[in-house]
Amino acid sequence: MRKAIGVDLGGTFIKAALIDESGNILYKEEAPTLADRGPDDILRRIEGMIREIAAKNDLAVSDLAGLGIAIPGFIDDESGVADEVVNIGWRDVPVREPLKQRLGIHVSMENDANAAALGEAWVGAGRGRRFALCVTLGTGVGGGVVIDGKVLRGANTMAGEIGHMVMVPGGAACNCGHHGCLETISSATGVVRMAREALVEAKQTGRPSALSDDPELTAADVFAAANALDAVANEVVDKAIETLAWGLGTAANVINPEVIVIGGGMSRAGARLFDPLRVAFPNYALRRVAAAVTLVPAELGNDAGVVGAARLALYS
Ligand SMILES: [Zn+2]
Repeated sequence: MRKAIGVDLGGTFIKAALIDESGNILYKEEAPTLADRGPDDILRRIEGMIREIAAKNDLAVSDLAGLGIAIPGFIDDESGVADEVVNIGWRDVPVREPLKQRLGIHVSMENDANAAALGEAWVGAGRGRRFALCVTLGTGVGGGVVIDGKVLRGANTMAGEIGHMVMVPGGAACNCGHHGCLETISSATGVVRMAREALVEAKQTGRPSALSDDPELTAADVFAAANALDAVANEVVDKAIETLAWGLGTAANVINPEVIVIGGGMSRAGARLFDPLRVAFPNYALRRVAAAVTLVPAELGNDAGVVGAARLALYS
């Protein structure tokens, strides 16, 4: 059976896994990214990880079907260059050619949200479905569209960026430079931001809330307070979910997916997220669109990126 290595380059860790053509993870390991050492150092250590994984699994590097690498930013697929990777400080970094030359194997690259989408669509919660929209609710809101096992990339690999649909013109500032994007509201960061604002207002009006405005406040704290029937927390969570339903409904009208897979840290909120989301979603999607789609939690967790990256290497 053919095998490939998928690498998921993150701001904190580099994850790498040996994966077979059925999508089974045979071996995986991770190492700190150490972004401040610069791109050459990171690419050299990725090369080292590939050689080590091959050796530990009694393979020659040349036995591999290829290497797929997921990059947490904008990529240029034609040139194999990472154009802009904000959280590790990369700009115009050639990735594909240097790795190809050093390892002598085929190298594919993809944006990390698209790679995760491909992983989920292949062997995760979207398996067996031809049209999948995959969304990651984390620090931001990532998105990817997979059609018949292929990522929809668009003119310059920007397709599926549903996190930057403007939901509130003139709203909170977004990392992309615009205001009021979906990710300013329905990401973990957005939930915390709205909770802080709601707490200021609650204090002014003398409304009680169990939430505390400490610097460590997380979206999980806000969901926990909502589950404990804190009214202020529930309003924040409801707004994040209603806005997400609106964004997903709008995206679904364009894509007409069979499945919407929702992953990322916030998807662990479980029923408090999915129950109201499933109720609100049909209010924003056409009836035939809503009838065709199921909303499901992601299944691969942190492995989605390496699995999707390996899939690229195996089938491109
Ligand atoms: Zn934005």
